[in-house]
Amino acid sequence: MKQLISLFILLVVTSTSIAQNEKFSNYSERSKLVIGIDVDQMRYDYLTRFYDKYGEGGFKRMMNEGFNCKNNHFNYIPTYTGPGHASLYTGTSPKYHGIIANDWYDKELKRNIYCVEDTAVQSVGTRGDLGQMSPVRMKTTTFGDENRLFTQMQGKTIGISIKDRASILSAGHTANAAYWFQGKNEGNWVSSTHYMTELPKWVTDFNKKHSVESYLKVWNTLYDIATYTESGSDLNTFEKGFKGKETATFPYDLATLKNDNGGHDILKSTPYGNSLTVDFAIEAIKGEQLGKDNITDVLTISFSCTDYVGHNFGVNSKEVEDTYLRLDLDLERLFKALDEKVGKNNYTVFLTADHAAVNVPAYLQSVKIPAGYFDSKGFDKKINSFMETNYGASDLIESISNNQIFLNRNKLQELDLDLDDVQEAIVNEIITYKYIDKAYTATALTSTSFSTGIERLIQNGFNQKRSGDVVYVLDPAVISDSKTGSTHGSGLEYDTHVPLLFFGKGIKHGSTLQKTEITDIAPTMSALLNIGYPSGNMGKPLEFVFN
Ligand code: ZN
Ligand code: ZN
Ligand code: ZN
Repeated sequence: MKQLISLFILLVVTSTSIAQNEKFSNYSERSKLVIGIDVDQMRYDYLTRFYDKYGEGGFKRMMNEGFNCKNNHFNYIPTYTGPGHASLYTGTSPKYHGIIANDWYDKELKRNIYCVEDTAVQSVGTRGDLGQMSPVRMKTTTFGDENRLFTQMQGKTIGISIKDRASILSAGHTANAAYWFQGKNEGNWVSSTHYMTELPKWVTDFNKKHSVESYLKVWNTLYDIATYTESGSDLNTFEKGFKGKETATFPYDLATLKNDNGGHDILKSTPYGNSLTVDFAIEAIKGEQLGKDNITDVLTISFSCTDYVGHNFGVNSKEVEDTYLRLDLDLERLFKALDEKVGKNNYTVFLTADHAAVNVPAYLQSVKIPAGYFDSKGFDKKINSFMETNYGASDLIESISNNQIFLNRNKLQELDLDLDDVQEAIVNEIITYKYIDKAYTATALTSTSFSTGIERLIQNGFNQKRSGDVVYVLDPAVISDSKTGSTHGSGLEYDTHVPLLFFGKGIKHGSTLQKTEITDIAPTMSALLNIGYPSGNMGKPLEFVFN
């Protein structure tokens, strides 16, 4: 009996210690660092178009060692930077996270607001109001927030991007820091009091050490320009270029062009801004000791320069090709630093984009593809005169922005007009206008549930509280921007189809053509870490990417 008891005790002791070990080992097996990478305006086909020219350690390393979701799409309109970053980190769309555009008309404040502006916080590391930014308008949590909650605020989150909105919306509400770049005549990485009262030493050291001047080189192609056979000719009529240089052709002497192009801000429209971003990210890994212990940290990096270059030169330009070939080398540098500092099988990376972009419409027209330019000013005039003729008032429309019309509710009441009737009348009017393909009333978008097609995308992008009374959609490849350079914003494939690569700890090698959506990324990271899903999540974890 005595022996039986001691055997029993032995069994109990062993099984508890096994349980504890298991708990510990399960926990320590979690990735030590999750790195979310956004490449602003990256189309899926940049992976394949430039594939032969990429090195082995950047994009190709992710494709060859990790998992490639080849058919990954945005599932809402509008495909802009603010909503893009919010959606990929919250696992939901503007309908729930509330970031309906980069700027939008605020119905209560009766003025246009910027998606991350916040007058309740102060700038840190910069003069003036350019640091007065926070994620206050984003209504739901990011997976980084969930990781902070899960780890009792011990796992860190750091956000980095040249663009404030890209850094802030990725990092989330509870982030230890979000840093963005103040160009103009400063050239420093800055933040706001939402995160801190002053910049940490590693940031001020970096700002002192890395003068922007050292990145303002003569921009020439990385390889012989004659070998850039994947793009159009360098000299063409579809590119904007820099002020102070007659043609949009290599080489670009950035130090000379600087004065005419926003001072240090010129860096944003060159591949060297991406190098600066990687230099800063590597310093953050060191300075914040990211991935050093067993409590998972999150680092979000967004490369903004690809977007500025795309807007300036267009999807088919040699400048875009060169920017991606150089970004590929910067990624290789980042992955090498992660191997060294965090350890090869200790971190997990995903790479995607916040939207893609359309070919320059004038170029498409030149090769007989339907495309065009929408005259926004003419549209404003025409719809306002329609309102005046029909309702006898000139101020019934408060704002037209992001392809939405906001009505003056007080005025409607004053004139005893029925909201639904007026919305309906506007839809019937504008659908007859050139280049307007579709139009919907807010009432239709909030009373019917669309599960397919462009209507689903509009509905996912429509926030009942913040969006307008009428939403319209332009014809394919019709934009309201200038006739040079590319842009984005639509629900068409050229704007929605973006890369999605996973790589590192917990990820298997493979690829799929199965359709995945941008809102699947955050729940996938939550599932990988075994933590709660972001509060407004509507995506599904992509189980097939896991080991
Ligand atoms: Zn963007
Ligand atoms: Zn060019
Ligand atoms: Zn853009």
